[in-house]
Amino acid sequence: MCSSHQEMWGFGREEVVLFRMWVMTDQRRTVLPNAREFPRFAGVSTFCRFPLLGDVGSGGQPVDWVVYGIPYDGAVTYRPGARFGPRAIRDASQYIKPVHQELGVDIAARFSMADGGDAPVQPYSCKDTLDAACEFALGLGTAAHTKLIAIGGDHSTAYANIKATWQRRGKPKGGLALLHFDAHLDTADVVWGEKWTHASPFIRAIEDGLIDPKRMLSVGIRGPLNTADDLNFAREHGVELVTSEDWLRGDGAQRIEAFRNRLGDDEVYLTFDIDCVDPAFAPGTGTPCCGGFGSAEVLGLLRSFAGVHLVGADVVEVLPDRDPAGITSLLATHVLFELLAVAAIRNT
Ligand code: MN
Ligand code: MN
Repeated sequence: MCSSHQEMWGFGREEVVLFRMWVMTDQRRTVLPNAREFPRFAGVSTFCRFPLLGDVGSGGQPVDWVVYGIPYDGAVTYRPGARFGPRAIRDASQYIKPVHQELGVDIAARFSMADGGDAPVQPYSCKDTLDAACEFALGLGTAAHTKLIAIGGDHSTAYANIKATWQRRGKPKGGLALLHFDAHLDTADVVWGEKWTHASPFIRAIEDGLIDPKRMLSVGIRGPLNTADDLNFAREHGVELVTSEDWLRGDGAQRIEAFRNRLGDDEVYLTFDIDCVDPAFAPGTGTPCCGGFGSAEVLGLLRSFAGVHLVGADVVEVLPDRDPAGITSLLATHVLFELLAVAAIRNT
């Protein structure tokens, strides 16, 4: 039986001391378990086998990125089940390796990364959950340094991580820029009398000044609407919409490129609803919509943002119970890996 967490993780006491020295000398990196000694199918399932935050950040050492879960799905309008997303995504992430082949970057060598565990949730209250998750996120790592990636949960949970990120970045006036991947705009004001739902995170974030709608890009929008007015809020507030139809017609890529150029070095938050991907590739989700991206297509599109100033992200709406063979959770882990590689490229 393992006598310490470090031994289970595949590095002994001497290496722990070495690791702390690296941290002290500011040569930050992530120490991953050696897969030849500690197989990927063994051990506690943290995200991508990152160490737990308590094992690397307890001494106040800087951690570059913390990944944590928000296992809440009480704000859905259709199928529930995304509360099991964080666990399924952690499980599916065990086979992710640190070197990004196409971008030529080793994320573990660039960043100190950790799994921060799961935020507390109140299954019967969306607003209470968002408040608790935001407070939890603000307690992860060091305020001035650590960037946050949330794993949902339904899309309402994105609000909590956006708010925590906005606060950590010094509450920039006008809000953060937003890259939004989704089949839906999620700017519905009220659903069934509720203002806090998975159809509403961006109207709330815009109202609260966390997001600048004029520097917001929504990609992958498609499918049947409740009313012909559903896109009005986004259009009236200057959100750049690239629908699936725009993408298929061929002018979407140019408009995304133009948006990327317009961002320059602005601080960007990226929110990824897995339903932007076609249900053929990502069936495990709550509000599926046909006609979306393929896996390779969406990973390539994410990769094209290499170099943007990413300061926070989330991946949401994975429903493991609707996910044959775990392909949706697996894709979600690859999306998260792309995001870290995109950030690492800027850091080189
Ligand atoms: Mn959606
Ligand atoms: Mn959404």
